[in-house]
Amino acid sequence: MKKNIRIALITLTVLVVCIVSLGVWVSGGQSDTSNILPYAEGGPEYRIYNSPDSTSPLKLILFVSQPQEINVTSPIVIGDKEAIVFEPQSTRSSANRLADVIEETGRELKYIYLGHAHMDHSQGASVLKQRFPNAKLIAEPKVAALQKLRIDNDDQMAFNRYGENAAIPSVPFEEYDNDKIFIEGHEIQLWHNQYGDVGIGHENEPHTVVYIPDLKALFPSDICYYGGHMMMGGSTKESRSEWKKQIRGYMEMDLEVVIPGHVPRTWTPHMTAQGVLEHSLEYIESYENALESSTSSDEVVDKMLKRYPKLEHTSALYLGTRINFLETHRLLFNPRLEAVMSLLPGSLVTWIDEKLWDSKKESLNL
Ligand SMILES: [Zn+2]
Repeated sequence: MKKNIRIALITLTVLVVCIVSLGVWVSGGQSDTSNILPYAEGGPEYRIYNSPDSTSPLKLILFVSQPQEINVTSPIVIGDKEAIVFEPQSTRSSANRLADVIEETGRELKYIYLGHAHMDHSQGASVLKQRFPNAKLIAEPKVAALQKLRIDNDDQMAFNRYGENAAIPSVPFEEYDNDKIFIEGHEIQLWHNQYGDVGIGHENEPHTVVYIPDLKALFPSDICYYGGHMMMGGSTKESRSEWKKQIRGYMEMDLEVVIPGHVPRTWTPHMTAQGVLEHSLEYIESYENALESSTSSDEVVDKMLKRYPKLEHTSALYLGTRINFLETHRLLFNPRLEAVMSLLPGSLVTWIDEKLWDSKKESLNL
């Protein structure tokens, strides 16, 4: 009888341990309660991850903006005294709230780092620079050059979209030609020339992926998405093959957290490191299957909406697919120009598109 009770107790203990571990894994963080901070209506817009290495003082604060600000993620790495923020948001309001969160940490903001030159991640830098004048705005040289090249166009687009809430005029990022950055002596790795979503420009434009060894955290930004449609416009068979290869490489790593560039806030409590990577890979594969088996952009969009009925950011799916079918041109995005281009023969439009890109490419030395 006693033996039966002992067996029952052991079984119960094993069960409880399994359930607790599963809960921690699903929450995407450590067992410390601060790591499972949920986003709640009216609650904080951030989530904190502690380092799995108890000797490291580093923490990761993940700020995510509101849906109308396209759910942009901004990871903030803090030590005992210093802070670095990656991807400084897009609008004036979201950048100001991000600045409030940084201020509340009481740490000195040393760097504002831009991993890829897309306006939805870069423009909030103008607000952060005002709030933290001593912080340096830095990016890998090619990313900095692309951001500078796009400033006028991006500012115009942001004004059209956000009006007074656009965080413009944008400020340029300085070139930082290094594959590491340090916070209080702790290394953060910068993996340059990785490829993901392309925005307006080129099928292979540079992204910097950030890896923080102390936190086992990877920030691939727009190379991975979660909870929303990925921007596939302008990608090619070759670039997607490279894109998938990178994600498979990340899957080999021992990671606690992977932070995509966009995450609807309601999804984050369910986000796991492997889950983000698997989802991103599967999305790219599904999109390729839809492309290969369809003859029109509408057909691709239909298939993807059926495959992923719950994902947000459907505008990325519509726009990206129209770009891939050359119904919208990646360098224009100007309704008047698009209207004129639609009257021209397709081959002439492709030729103009390529010439426009070539002329910009030379100045970037890409
Ligand atoms: Zn983005």
